Amino acid sequence: MSSDIEIRTHTAIHIVKGAIQKILGAKWTSSVYASGLHGGIAVQFDRKPTDEEINLIEKTSNEIIKQDIKIKIHELSKIEAEKKWGDIIYDLFPLPPGLTTLKIVEIPGWNINTCNKKHTQKTGEIVEIKIQKSRFRLNKKLLEVSFDII
Ligand SMILES: [Zn+2]
Repeated sequence: MSSDIEIRTHTAIHIVKGAIQKILGAKWTSSVYASGLHGGIAVQFDRKPTDEEINLIEKTSNEIIKQDIKIKIHELSKIEAEKKWGDIIYDLFPLPPGLTTLKIVEIPGWNINTCNKKHTQKTGEIVEIKIQKSRFRLNKKLLEVSFDII
């Protein structure tokens, strides 16, 4: 996770995640990946989304990119962060044990998450995302969304 391309792809995950949370109301992320221009996210969800919902996730993500929002990085104690934002900053994959200070990545008005990876400074650097495919796995109650950035 060090190339400029993967920094953009990783940052796009935060944007797509914000869209999934807002449009579907799915809260918990179970896994993410970024490889070159390709990225993906899996969230806990209980049904197959409609094509309209998937289109809306792509459309609103691209609106946030176009707005070129400045991305904020906060660094504060785990206790303070939980007091301020609650459990919305967390994912289902665990943090390293014994961590007392968290790095929080905030796309104001859109997404907030604990994350110690590198991010672009503004959302506009991602340029555009295109959802490649979505797959709902009923047995695992998991929605997987994969995308490419341009
Ligand atoms: Zn991140």
